[in-house]
Parts: sequence; structure tokens; C-alpha cells
Amino acid sequence: MTATVVVAGVSDRNSTDSPLEAVSGGDSSRAAEAFGALSNETRLAILLALWEAYSPAAPDEGVSFSELRRRVDMRNSGRFNYHLGELEGQFVRKTDDGYVLRRAGLRLVRTVVAGTGIEEPTFEASEIDVPCPICGAATEIRYEDDRLYQVCTECPGAYEGHEAQPAGYLAGIALDPAGFTDRTARETWAAARIQVFQNVRSMIEGVCDECSGPAGGSLAVCEDHDSDGVCEACGRRSAPMAFLGCSVCKNYHVTSPRSIVAHHPAVVAFYHERGVDVQFDADDFESVRRRVALVGDHDQEVVSAEPPRVRVVVSHDGDELRLTVDEELDVTVTD
Ligand SMILES: [Zn+2]
Ligand SMILES: [Zn+2]
Ligand SMILES: [Zn+2]
Repeated sequence: MTATVVVAGVSDRNSTDSPLEAVSGGDSSRAAEAFGALSNETRLAILLALWEAYSPAAPDEGVSFSELRRRVDMRNSGRFNYHLGELEGQFVRKTDDGYVLRRAGLRLVRTVVAGTGIEEPTFEASEIDVPCPICGAATEIRYEDDRLYQVCTECPGAYEGHEAQPAGYLAGIALDPAGFTDRTARETWAAARIQVFQNVRSMIEGVCDECSGPAGGSLAVCEDHDSDGVCEACGRRSAPMAFLGCSVCKNYHVTSPRSIVAHHPAVVAFYHERGVDVQFDADDFESVRRRVALVGDHDQEVVSAEPPRVRVVVSHDGDELRLTVDEELDVTVTD
């Protein structure tokens, strides 16, 4: 089944038994220590105060001890000093003029800010002007469990009766509430699409988009695929599935060979030479809709199940470009 393939892919990639060990290079106490350092309200307030004082224009400018204590509003200087000391090293660095966040501290605050948003996101299911690639009906986007879902308003979508997916599921993209900032529903969809496109690209090129750790890909093909509707064997509409995973942090993306080839220079050149614009921008909804539709039109066909090989055909005005995606998601131009 699909789900077990995905899960096996993740755990196969973790060669050590403990993810903490993988993160800390064999010394899990370092990661445990980091969690310990954060188990206190004052320390979290210090990190937040340093972030508020932080300016990208002067990233190394420190906040003095007294100024920091004033910002955190803590009278007891000795206790304040103790908590600050617990953060020094991993999260906070002392400079000549005071204290600054180290990269880990900055990332931590950014994660919290992005994950909770500056404001609570209020998001109602909204129709966007993108037709369902399966039946052509209207689609809408919803935000549930930190994911932006695009669902069909009429057909069962890409999976039928899949308990973990909402009815009509077409796409689901992990998105922090920060992604909604100053954006309409359409703009949020466009931003999420661009983000996943770039994240997948980074993974294809071997770098995890979450932690910068080593990433790799694999291709899986349903051997008993029934392409008439949703296949009973794999629960999907299409037989091939591209999986990208990080060996350090368990970040992963599931996508399709037709999306993988979109990053190949020959595909970009093919479109460019024919005057098809493949540039996109989050402020330009139409450009993102066009890009997504182009990828959706890539024809994919299983050439072999073992080893898995999928041919993708990119076409425009009668011209064709054929590419093959292999078991490690390497792409070659066939002709
Ligand atoms: Zn549909
Ligand atoms: Zn199948
Ligand atoms: Zn990672």
C-alpha cells in the first residue's frame, strides 16, 4: 500500500536508530540539552526579546544586559543572568556590545512566529479560479491541520475514500499561518504552490529544504495498477509516485514524475524556445495557474515496474520532448 511505501522510505533513510543521534552526529545529549535549555518561560522571553530587537540591517548589533533585562521585565538580576547563561552557546551569543541570537535561536523564534502567525489565521473554504484536472469542475481551497488543501467540489479527487485526506483531495501543501499574511485566498494558493515547487527542487538537488541535510529521491510504481478511476491496489489515480526524503530530519515530499521533470533544464528550454512563459510570481496568480497547468499536462507512462522507470512527454503545438525518470528520480532526455 502507498502509505507503507512512504513510511518505509522515511525510516529506511534514517540509518541510525535515533533521530536525535542523527541530528547531533551521534551525541543525542546535545539535542536533549537544547530542549532542556528551552524549558523555561524566562528563557523563551529572552529569545523573543532578542528577536524583537534584531534587525536584518544590523544583524550583529547586540542588546546590552540591562536593556535585555528591561525588555524581559525581570527584576532579579541574578536569576536573569542565570537563565541567559543557560541559553548562551547554543541559542545566544555574547558580543562586545551585548547579546545576539545565534542561528539556532533565530530559527527557533522564526519557526514559532511562522507557525503561530502574527495574527490568528481566519480562513474559510474559498473557490479559486482553477479547474479540477480530473473532471473540470470548480476547485476550492481549505486550511486544515496546517495544510492548505485544494479539493474538487464535484468529483472524489485523486484518492477515493482515503481517510487521511479530505473528500475531493487534489493537493495538500504544508503551510505555516505566516503564508496567509497580507494575501487573498488565491494569492495564498499561489504562494503555497511556489513554495512546494522550490522545496521539491531543493530536495531533487540533494538538500533538505527544512534542515539542509542530505536528501534523496525514489520512484515507486504500483504493479497492479488499475487506471480506471482510483486504483484499488494503491489507492491513487496514477501508478507512479515520486518520493523525496531527508536522512536527518524526516522531512519529505510526495510528488509525481511529471512534476520532477519540470525542473530539468531541457524542459525549461523547450518551453522558452516556444515562447511559453514558465516564470511565476506569488503576486501574479495567472502566472502560477499557468505553470501548474503546464506540469499537469505532462504525459506520464510507466515503462518498467522493476526497476521503476517512467517516461514523461512534454508537448507543445505538436512538438514533443521525451524524458525518463529512473528509480532515484534522475531525469534523462530520451529524444
Ligand atoms: Zn473533479
Ligand atoms: Zn495502483
Ligand atoms: Zn531535513
